[in-house]
Amino acid sequence: MKTPQTARTGVYKEIASVSNPIIKDLRGLSMRKNRQATNRFMTEGLKLVAAGCEAGWTLSIFLFGEKAASNQLVMELAALSKSRGGMVLKVSEPVLQKLSRRDNAQTVIGIFEQALTPATAIQAKAHSLWVALDGVKDPGNLGTIVRTADAAGATGIILIGETTDPFALEAVRATMGSIFSLPLVRFSRTEFAEFAKTWSGLIVGTHLSANTDYRAPDYRQPAILLMGNEQSGLDDDAVALCTDLVRIPQRGRADSLNLAIATGIMLFEMQRDDLILE
Ligand code: SAM
Repeated sequence: MKTPQTARTGVYKEIASVSNPIIKDLRGLSMRKNRQATNRFMTEGLKLVAAGCEAGWTLSIFLFGEKAASNQLVMELAALSKSRGGMVLKVSEPVLQKLSRRDNAQTVIGIFEQALTPATAIQAKAHSLWVALDGVKDPGNLGTIVRTADAAGATGIILIGETTDPFALEAVRATMGSIFSLPLVRFSRTEFAEFAKTWSGLIVGTHLSANTDYRAPDYRQPAILLMGNEQSGLDDDAVALCTDLVRIPQRGRADSLNLAIATGIMLFEMQRDDLILE
């Protein structure tokens, strides 16, 4: 590592080598155990890093490539990060590629602190619409669901049991920035089963053998949409927690919808904010 350089907007360090110890540590964030140990995760792209800062998430490390050094917003973010006590690094193209594990790496990377919301935030208020995910395995599906929930105006996401890590790079990428918009609450399966007994609104599950059309229930009350695993769906214990079990009628030969698609169809049916084009 070189000695700190003084930039127009503050002080940053330059790192050109992919074997720099800081970069090695950051590469370790691709593993869940390291994300948990450091409580950090990685976001790529100027728009997403700016969205995280704007939403008040803590940016621990801000990295930008040489090509981004002339961008005014990049320099403003660097200065903001520095003023909030974050580390700012100007890095080489190979470093960016190594971190993002792809050739066309973004020119900006943000390392944020993870933030989960306490379960007390889940309250049965008018228009409350939570999405609970029990055992979702695929990070891309999880990220797509977070993005779709954000777009549908959902209140937040409940991650149950073995559901995959929302802070994995693939999941964060798929959220397209919505990771910063919605509260994330984590429950064990036992905790969620206990919580469900106290919830005064609907718990709506989707099931391929349900007899109720997904448009039939009256969703004008607080609701949790409970979705299961991609392969096996909701198991019997999860089904037992549901006040309503619904099915989306299908045509064609496909035997089921992708989990994230089914979640999206449900959410846009359940949201009751009179969402209209402006
Ligand atoms: N063979 C699996 C099964 O029997 O559950 C298919 C799983 S499907 C890919 C994933 C989940 O999405 C399902 O378990 C169900 O919760 C939901 N899903 C998919 N298509 C659906 C539909 N047409 N109606 C209701 N739920 C659906």
